[in-house]
Amino acid sequence: MPDRFYITTPIYYVNDIPHIGHAYTTVAADIAARFHRMRGADVFFLTGTDEHGQKVLQAAELRCVSPKDHTDTMCTNFKKLWAALDITNNAFIRTTDKEHIDTVREMLQKLYDSGEIVKRTYEGSYCTHDERFWTDKEVIDGNCPECSRPVETIKEDNYFFLMSKYQDRLIEHINKNSGFIRPETRKNEVLGFLKSNPLGDLCISRPKKRLSWGIPLPFDDNYVTYVWFDALLNYYSATCYLTKECNQTYWWPADCHIVGKDIVTTHAVYWPSMLMALKLPLPEMIFAHGWWTIDGKKMSKSVGNVVDPHKVTETYGVDAFRYFLMREVTFGLDGDYSEAALIKRFDTDLANDLGNLVNRSFAMLSKYFDGKVPEPPDIDIELKELAEGISERLKEHLKVLSFSKALDAVWELVSFLNKYIDSNKPWVLAKDSSSAQRLAVVMYSLVEGIRFISVYLYPFMPKFGERLYSHITCEPLSTERNINAKLKWGTLKSGSVVTTIEQLFPKMERKDKVDEKDTTTEVPEKTDELISIEDFAKVKLKVGKILSAEPVPKSNKLIKLSVDTGSEIRQVVAGIGKHYKADELIGKTVIVVANLKPAKLMGVESHGMVLAASEGDVLKLVTPDGDLPAGSVVK
Ligand SMILES: [Zn+2]
Repeated sequence: MPDRFYITTPIYYVNDIPHIGHAYTTVAADIAARFHRMRGADVFFLTGTDEHGQKVLQAAELRCVSPKDHTDTMCTNFKKLWAALDITNNAFIRTTDKEHIDTVREMLQKLYDSGEIVKRTYEGSYCTHDERFWTDKEVIDGNCPECSRPVETIKEDNYFFLMSKYQDRLIEHINKNSGFIRPETRKNEVLGFLKSNPLGDLCISRPKKRLSWGIPLPFDDNYVTYVWFDALLNYYSATCYLTKECNQTYWWPADCHIVGKDIVTTHAVYWPSMLMALKLPLPEMIFAHGWWTIDGKKMSKSVGNVVDPHKVTETYGVDAFRYFLMREVTFGLDGDYSEAALIKRFDTDLANDLGNLVNRSFAMLSKYFDGKVPEPPDIDIELKELAEGISERLKEHLKVLSFSKALDAVWELVSFLNKYIDSNKPWVLAKDSSSAQRLAVVMYSLVEGIRFISVYLYPFMPKFGERLYSHITCEPLSTERNINAKLKWGTLKSGSVVTTIEQLFPKMERKDKVDEKDTTTEVPEKTDELISIEDFAKVKLKVGKILSAEPVPKSNKLIKLSVDTGSEIRQVVAGIGKHYKADELIGKTVIVVANLKPAKLMGVESHGMVLAASEGDVLKLVTPDGDLPAGSVVK
């Protein structure tokens, strides 16, 4: 039987409009869930919404609908975003689900019967807005430490969960299980808090006259339960009715609760104490991630800098957004989001490193082997070991949610393969028939290496991984239950046909769009000034062969070319789309300005320029009189 993996996000407060913070937590959980499914584990991935509390009732009243109708509408904001971000949660729990309410009441009764919950008269400072009491130490000048509104002194009877008695056991558990709270800094914070403060008992009831939209206490109908008590129990209640077997002994305890650092105390103190009192096992790991600032500022509605994940993914694509969130910042630390940083990541890592690797490799396979994967007479051991070894490294990194380190490991393979092209120079091997065997090894290794990359990146960038894998193998990837069998070097079949792939990251479009410039006509056409031979010698002209050509999206004149210039294959963008069709350019011999500064045209990098001559509406590429190998110098 495969092992099982149970991962959760917090249940999100239903009145919130989902933003980058919600997306971050949920994407992280999705990557872990996909990774564990891929290695064959039985996965249960839970997210949902927290739907009780006075503010939910007030919002419903404002909209003149019942609280249930209100939450029915609001929870779809989250469901829509998860669909847009390719989130593969197995269930979506709502705290207004009847089964959840039943479980919470059952647990409350159990604790009451075993003497873990007692009634006391309580006098304290209460914040109506946050629906909670604060201790005298916590109140700041008569105001709530959370929202700065004035607190009221309230004296009333309430029910208390005797949390204080679990303080020592909790400290012991955290000390014995070093991975229980991650990262280390959060663990130390919680331990510091527990060791320096006597843990109080937790008030878990609210009189109905003050708060009516909640779960009634089973043993006293004048009260509902405190929202946190209700909310935390979702992780357990879901296993009783949302898993396919409804088998809580199989699914409990959870392997991983991912939470934001603001709710680490409720998860690492309240929740384990509740579980201890219920005599249930504790979760394996509580991971508290950091927060995103936006362009260096705290995200807030009043500043108006809240990042809407829908907008980001519409502009840059889901995969690029998911990739950015996980690569940019170590999971657990705070990070800064900016569109410029996202574009930089996209250009450097995805378009340049990865996109060029795939484009160059497929173009060469098409040129030298008609797109058919050759039979390799040999194996490059170093490459094989690197590619296969990443599997174990990913497992270790993802065990502790080190997403950025996992991606670093995959990028070692990307960089290795890019260097592999440069050092093996397939275009040189192709010219010499005695190197045919070596060329077959090199080209097979490139495509096989790219196949490994597609599998490794799949949990992070599911659309990209799936597309690339199925393009290479003609088999689907996401349906694979156990991918380990596919992570053996040499699995790629010789003879498979791999065509060039159009637009690897097609949704890319930038706001800082460079004007559509035309590289061929940009050169000043006439100048009366004479130049010296030294001036002319500064321009390095080479013969190039066009390996592939495709129109730049949304441009009617730009064509993206990959050009073999002898020593390398370059991407050149040329403004010749009104005069040539992309298809008819492939195979043409052209003259390339080889030492032109790289430029970006409609967001696409261009390394060089192809020469053309024009008169009126006619434009023709300049080409040598007769056949010359790519790289020949023009002077
Ligand atoms: Zn408050």
